[in-house]
Amino acid sequence: MTFFGPYGGGKMWLKQNEWMSYAHCADDDRFTSESAEHDEELESICKGCHVKPECMQWAIADEVSSVFAAGHRFPDPSHKRGLQSLYDRFRDELPNALEQRGDV
Ligand code: SF4
Repeated sequence: MTFFGPYGGGKMWLKQNEWMSYAHCADDDRFTSESAEHDEELESICKGCHVKPECMQWAIADEVSSVFAAGHRFPDPSHKRGLQSLYDRFRDELPNALEQRGDV
């Protein structure tokens, strides 16, 4: 398995979470809401977000739950299989996301 991280591939950032300042979701509470009411709109926002690869890496590394990240809603921690499936999917899709941005 190949994992492209800020420290192992892709863009280099001076500070660990510097990429977050470029996120299109900054200060948008809908991304941390448990409601799926706005998911279509959030998905569209993520599609145009330039730091989606970093967001995917963060989601995998932090094993996020109960948030909307990189175009997908992550369920609460009780849904272990669903979460694992999303982490695996992100690992598979990450090389393409980096390539699309021109990193590799
Ligand atoms: S891809 Fe990640 S960082 Fe970008 S808008 Fe979506 S949730 Fe935010």
